[in-house]
Amino acid sequence: HLSQRLQTVAGYVLPGARLADIGSDHAYLPANLALNGKIATAIAGEVVTGPFENAVQEIHGLQLEKKIHVRQADGLAAIHSGEIIDVITICGMGGSLICQILAAGFEQLGKRPRLILQPNVNEAGVRKWLEINCYQIVAEEIIAEAGHIYEIIVADPTATAIALSEKAKMFGPLLLQERSAVFLEKWQQEQIKLQHVLKQMQQAQTEPLTKERLLQQKINMIEEVLHD
Ligand code: SAM
Repeated sequence: HLSQRLQTVAGYVLPGARLADIGSDHAYLPANLALNGKIATAIAGEVVTGPFENAVQEIHGLQLEKKIHVRQADGLAAIHSGEIIDVITICGMGGSLICQILAAGFEQLGKRPRLILQPNVNEAGVRKWLEINCYQIVAEEIIAEAGHIYEIIVADPTATAIALSEKAKMFGPLLLQERSAVFLEKWQQEQIKLQHVLKQMQQAQTEPLTKERLLQQKINMIEEVLHD
């Protein structure tokens, strides 16, 4: 039984894919996909010993060792040279860490896989990485679960880079078009939070004016999107 967040991610894994789930923790995502016959094989990569052991136990308990290889490794090092991967999922960590993981070892992959990314923060940084690395965002989801709002970004490789505006990177090109209730809720919350930060900055007067101006610009951008 997967969370709605991981269920949404699972929905974008290509049928019959060879999957690599990086930062897999309990390996719930690959285990679920394998049990439902939706993937050919999977690698569950984990760098930290505790979560790695969780994954080993989960996969052993479900007798999925033949289909899912649990490996303790840093990022894409979990994928051995010569192994072809169709889909990489990286979920539940910060956007900067996701970009760092992708940047290290991405060139060594035998094929440019579909990427399904669920950054907890800094979604804009992830979209920027995708833009620079010739990936096209083909789907985006925003969901609310257990008091959190999550974004899921699905991207496929393209031949030429597709430029995204600053606005598209910040809000998500497809989420921006869709303007769902959860999307509006997220940015209303964000606006209130940033207004509070700005007010404190102005009162303390310790931050340089440029920082205040940048924050004000961001608030204005949110204002614009919310009242579109
Ligand atoms: N992907 C699962 C999910 O979305 O529910 C687990 C998310 S958990 C919050 C993030 C996991 O990423 C942690 O178990 C952490 O140990 C792992 N992690 C962080 N940096 C990593 C790296 N460089 N390589 C592999 N795993 C990493």
